[in-house]
Amino acid sequence: MSGSVIHWFRKGLRLHDNPALLKALALAEEKKHAFYAVFILDTWFVKQATVGVNRWRFLLDSLSDLDASLKNLGSRLYVLRDSPENVFNTIIKDWNVKALTFESDTEPYAKSRDETIRKLAKSHHVEVHEYCSHTLYNPNEIIQANNGATPMTYQKFESLVKKIGHPKSPLDSPISIPSNIHSIDGKKYLVPTLDDLEVDQTGLGPHLYRGGETEALKRLEMKLKRQEWICKFSKPQTSPNSLEPSTTVLSPYLKFGCISPRLFYHKLLSVISGKKHTEPPTSLVGQLLWREFFYTVGSVTPNFDQIQGNKICKQIPWSDDPELLEAWKLGKTGYPFIDAVMTQLRTEGWIHHLARHSVACFLTRGDLWQSWVAGVKVFDEYLLDADWSLNNANWMWLSASSFFYQFQRVYSPIVFGKKTDKNGDYIKKYLPKLKKFPSEYIYEPWKAPLNIQKAAGCIIGQDYPKPIVDHDVVRPRNLERMSLAYKGLPIENSAYSAAASKEDDINTKKRKVVSDSTKSKKQKIERKQKSVASFLKKK
Ligand SMILES: Cc1cc2nc3c(=O)[nH]c(=O)nc-3n(C[C@H](O)[C@H](O)[C@H](O)COP(=O)(O)OP(=O)(O)OC[C@H]3O[C@@H](n4cnc5c(N)ncnc54)[C@H](O)[C@@H]3O)c2cc1C
Repeated sequence: MSGSVIHWFRKGLRLHDNPALLKALALAEEKKHAFYAVFILDTWFVKQATVGVNRWRFLLDSLSDLDASLKNLGSRLYVLRDSPENVFNTIIKDWNVKALTFESDTEPYAKSRDETIRKLAKSHHVEVHEYCSHTLYNPNEIIQANNGATPMTYQKFESLVKKIGHPKSPLDSPISIPSNIHSIDGKKYLVPTLDDLEVDQTGLGPHLYRGGETEALKRLEMKLKRQEWICKFSKPQTSPNSLEPSTTVLSPYLKFGCISPRLFYHKLLSVISGKKHTEPPTSLVGQLLWREFFYTVGSVTPNFDQIQGNKICKQIPWSDDPELLEAWKLGKTGYPFIDAVMTQLRTEGWIHHLARHSVACFLTRGDLWQSWVAGVKVFDEYLLDADWSLNNANWMWLSASSFFYQFQRVYSPIVFGKKTDKNGDYIKKYLPKLKKFPSEYIYEPWKAPLNIQKAAGCIIGQDYPKPIVDHDVVRPRNLERMSLAYKGLPIENSAYSAAASKEDDINTKKRKVVSDSTKSKKQKIERKQKSVASFLKKK
C-alpha cells in the first residue's frame, strides 16, 4: 500500500476553518499519499459513565454529518474503536501512515494522550502537524503577551487581546479531496448508533439540538439575520426562563468544534461594524471572550478541576451530603424554579447561563453548601456543551471560589425567576405536576392553602416535595460560613453553627421521614398489587 496521511478528528468536527485538515490534504496531494479522515471512539470516554445519552446522540449526529460532508467530496469518515494508542499502533503499520495531523487540545487528558501519540508517531518516523483552531487565540500567545503570567481577570484578558488584535480570519472548507488508489474495507469503521454503543437510552430527551457542522452553520446564519438583536445583545438582559432560548445555543456546537469560534467572531464583527452596538463583557463578542479567557486560565492551571492543589481556588469546607446532591440533581428540592431548570438540563441538555447561575449558587454557597466539584460532575453528565475549561471555571465563579468574590450576592430561588416569568410558564412546562397552581403560588407552592393544592391536584409533601432547606435560614448561615472561610477560619466558629447542626439534624430526620413515608407508600402499593395479582390468579 502506498503511504497515507491521516487527519485525526477529535473536537473540531467540521470542514470549515480546519487548518490541520487542510494540511493533511495538502500533504496527501503533494506526496501522492492516500488521505484518511479518522475519529477514534476512545474507550476511556466510552467507559466513562458520566456522558449522558443526549450528548452521545449529539456526538453521533456530528459524526454522521461529518461523514456525509466528506462523502460529498469523495471521501468518508473512519470511526475506530479503541484507545488512540492501540489504534495508531495498528494503523500506522497497516495503513502505512506517513503523516498525522490534528487540532491541538489544552485539556489535561488530551495533553497526555497527544504526548503519547506524538512519541509513538516519532518512533515510526511519522510526521505530526498540530494547529490551534478550537479557540480564537492560542492560549500560549495570550500568556506570552502578559509576560508569561496568566491573566486572572476578564479586564486584563481583554486588554491583552486588544494588544494582539483580532483573531485570524477563518479558513475556507476544502473543495476537493484527492481520491485514494487503495480503499479500506467500506463496511468497517462506520459511524455507530446508540444501540451499537449500548448506551442506556432511558434518559433520551426531545431531539431539539441536532449535532453537526451543517446544523451549526444553519443556526449561526439564523442568528446573524437578527442584526438588531446582535447589536443590542447584553447577556444580563437575556432571560433564563423564556420558553424559547434567549441566547444563541451555539455552545454545544462550539464544544464539539462543529463551528469555528473564529468564524463566529468574524461574522459578528461584520454585523456590528459601522453600527451602534454593545461591548464586551456583555455583548456577543464579549461572550466569546469569556470562553477564551477561561480556556486560557484552564490551559495552565494545575488541578483546575479540583479544590485541592488548585492555587486559584479558595479552600472552602463544603459538606458532602449525597441526599441533598441527589435531590438537586433530580429536580426534587421543592423549589420549583430550581427543579424546573434541573429538569430542563436533564431532559434537553441545554439551560440558559443565568439558570446555570441560579442552580449552581443554590447547590453551593446559596443553599445546600455542597462542593462545586460535585456540581461540575452533574453538569458534565447532562450538558450537551459540557466543556472541561468552561464548566470548571464557571462553577468556581458561582461558588465564589475563584474569579468572583462577592459572595454576599446570593440568587433567591424564589424571586430571581419571577423577574422574567411572573406566571411561571417555564415552571409549568418543565414541572407539569404544578401546572394547575395559580401563578401567585407557583414559585412557593408550599404556601398555598390545602384547598388550593387539592384543586391543583398536587399536594405539597406528597405529590411534589416540600423545600429541602429553608432559604431564609440557610442563606445567612452560609454567608457567615463564607465570610469565615474567606478569612481562613474554621466554619465551626459560626454563630449559626450550633443552630445549623441542630437544623441539619432536623433536616436529616425530616428527609428520613420523607424517604420512610415514600418507602411505606411503596410497600403499601406493592402489597396492594400482590393482593390484586393473587385475586386475579384465583379468578
Ligand atoms: C455553573 C456554570 C457552568 C457552565 N458550564 C459550561 C460548559 O460546560 N460549557 C459551556 O459551553 N458553557 C458553560 N457555561 C457558560 C455559559 O452558561 C454557556 O456557555 C452558555 O449559556 C451557552 O449558551 P449560548 O451558546 O446560548 O451562549 P451565548 O450567550 O449565545 O454565547 C455565545 C458563546 O459564548 C460562550 N460563552 C458564553 N458565556 C460564557 C461563559 N460564562 N463562560 C464561557 N463561555 C461562555 C459560549 O461558547 C457560548 O456558546 C457555564 C456557566 C455556568 C454558570
